Amino acid sequence: MTERPIAPSTLDARAAYRVAVDRLRTQHHDLQVEGPIRLAKRTSNLFRMRDASRMPCLDVAAFSGVIEVDPVARTADVLGMTTYEELVEATLRFGLMPLVVPKLKTITLGGAVSGRGIESTSFRNGAPHESVIDFDVLTGDGRVVTVTPDGPHAELFTGFPNSYGTLGYALRLRIELEPVKPFVALEHYLHHSAADAAETICEIVQTREHRGRPVDFIDGVVFSRDRVVITVGRFVDEAPYLSDYTRAKIYYKSLEQRSSDYLTIRDYLWRWDTDWFWCSGALGVQHPLVRPFLPRRLLRSDVYWKIVGFERRHGWKFGWDAKRGRSPGEPVIQDVEIPVGRLAEFLDFFHAEIGIAPVWLCPLRQRSSDVTWDLYALDPEMTYVNLGFWSSVEAIPGQREGYHNRRIEGVVAELGGRKSLYSSSYYEEDEFWSIDNGVQYELLKKRYDPQGRLLDLHAKCVRGH
Ligand SMILES: Cc1cc2nc3c(=O)[nH]c(=O)nc-3n(C[C@H](O)[C@H](O)[C@H](O)COP(=O)(O)OP(=O)(O)OC[C@H]3O[C@@H](n4cnc5c(N)ncnc54)[C@H](O)[C@@H]3O)c2cc1C
Repeated sequence: MTERPIAPSTLDARAAYRVAVDRLRTQHHDLQVEGPIRLAKRTSNLFRMRDASRMPCLDVAAFSGVIEVDPVARTADVLGMTTYEELVEATLRFGLMPLVVPKLKTITLGGAVSGRGIESTSFRNGAPHESVIDFDVLTGDGRVVTVTPDGPHAELFTGFPNSYGTLGYALRLRIELEPVKPFVALEHYLHHSAADAAETICEIVQTREHRGRPVDFIDGVVFSRDRVVITVGRFVDEAPYLSDYTRAKIYYKSLEQRSSDYLTIRDYLWRWDTDWFWCSGALGVQHPLVRPFLPRRLLRSDVYWKIVGFERRHGWKFGWDAKRGRSPGEPVIQDVEIPVGRLAEFLDFFHAEIGIAPVWLCPLRQRSSDVTWDLYALDPEMTYVNLGFWSSVEAIPGQREGYHNRRIEGVVAELGGRKSLYSSSYYEEDEFWSIDNGVQYELLKKRYDPQGRLLDLHAKCVRGH
């Protein structure tokens, strides 16, 4: 096989990476103070409340960018703090995309792989960590190791997803890519019950077709108990027309208004970012009198994030609600995975006791049945449905803090599901470690962060430091 010549820009990027790694190790070494350290990043999609302001920070600004896209091998070599927005721009130039593109533009590759990512290709490609070929990690004890599925750090390969930066930080990752076509044809199917929707999902996951046509993407929205829309998408070379949901029209509303649609591949990948699913409505930007005057650059999830962050710091809405005698309510911002056969049961509980709508829905199946992802083990023979809900509910007087979130945790466990850890969690410590494989975690922690320079997973995700 003839070797492909390496472009000078790639050589420069690799040299710059090596320099940045040396500097980061020095930085890590110099932060020899008591207590844990954390990442200093420009963006975040983490909803956990935390007070990390006094923790010393590692500046990782140098770890953003794409080192190389190899169109022949269909791989990309990417720095760990690169946002998917930047990554997708680099790969689309070659007619390629990552196998799973989480739908918020500023989610980073390292964040998605160390957490648990999902999108509408997850029914065939699993989660983002399942298409990582190898990666470099700055471990808690300050080493930089290259992690591969069968090398000396193989146990970190299977133990890294869902570790949320508590074993080390991914600095560079090589990932698989897949070819795209310029457009995506969408069809929206309304179901009048969750059980019917679950049946459609099972059929599509099994056959990768719907009504005789191939399916490349599936997700959906539960608008109410009897209105569940499943959206299937397929790559196409030509489109008879194109919709644009980055201006006046709002994507999630279109799901109930039309049965088919066409988007460019780029607009498809970011269809949920423009209105943060539907959550931008709470900030007033969907109002027909306001919307036409908003420039596109402001219709982005990271802008909404900044507004929410500002509100959290200053509490003006809280103060306003208190003046009007309104309780602040309990934030219920979660993503959970439920076995598809229990979807209807979960939604029955959810409509009756939590009552948030809409709910995002996305099928997920482990890509390869040969791997066990130690801290986020799923049954590889099972199809799961991810449900995302991001709102708040009225607090019940006399109930302990986090009552609704605890109920959700309990029901998810009863139904054999899993919950993501990017938001608030209330698990008791024993329960947490029985779900998240405490035995394996402890081995990894001893090997990669023996002095506890990084927080422990329970402390970080449940106690919320
Ligand atoms: C409203 C909402 C909707 C969401 N929807 C989706 C979705 O549709 N699909 C999806 O996939 N995800 C979704 N997420 C979850 C999101 O993917 C995770 O929160 C993810 O971890 C965020 O990554 P980030 O790059 O923004 O990292 P951050 O928010 O900055 O950090 C998240 C955690 O990852 C750690 N971390 C960050 N970078 C690295 C690294 N390089 N190495 C090791 N650890 C690191 C941090 O220490 C931190 O604990 C959603 C989250 C929210 C709040």
